[in-house]
Amino acid sequence: MLSDLIALVRLHEMEFSLADDPALTPDRAEVEMRRCRAEIDPALLARYEQLKRRHASGALVEAENGICSGCRVTLPRTSAARLKHGPASCDHCGRIIFDPDSVYHFQY
Ligand SMILES: [Zn+2]
Repeated sequence: MLSDLIALVRLHEMEFSLADDPALTPDRAEVEMRRCRAEIDPALLARYEQLKRRHASGALVEAENGICSGCRVTLPRTSAARLKHGPASCDHCGRIIFDPDSVYHFQY
C-alpha cells in the first residue's frame, strides 16, 4: 500500500540521515522512526530489516527509468507497472524498490 511505502521511505531517510530537515533532532528522529515503524505493514517492515543486514547501502531503493538503482538491472515490465501502486521487489538483488514519483509529491 502507498501509505506503508511513504512511512518506509521516511524511516529509510531518517536511518540514513537523508532527511534534509534541520528541525529533526536525534530525539525527534527517534520518536518519528518509532511512529513510522508502527505505520508500516509488519511483513514489509520485517523484510526491510532483513534486507538491511544484507545491503549496507540500504534495503530500499528507487526505480530510475525502469532500472533498479540498487543493482542497475532493468526491471521486468510487470514489476515496473506494480510500482505505481506500492513497493515491489527487485528480482535480481531482492531490495525493495519504489517509484519516487508516487512518493515525493506527498507532504509528510
Ligand atoms: Zn536490484
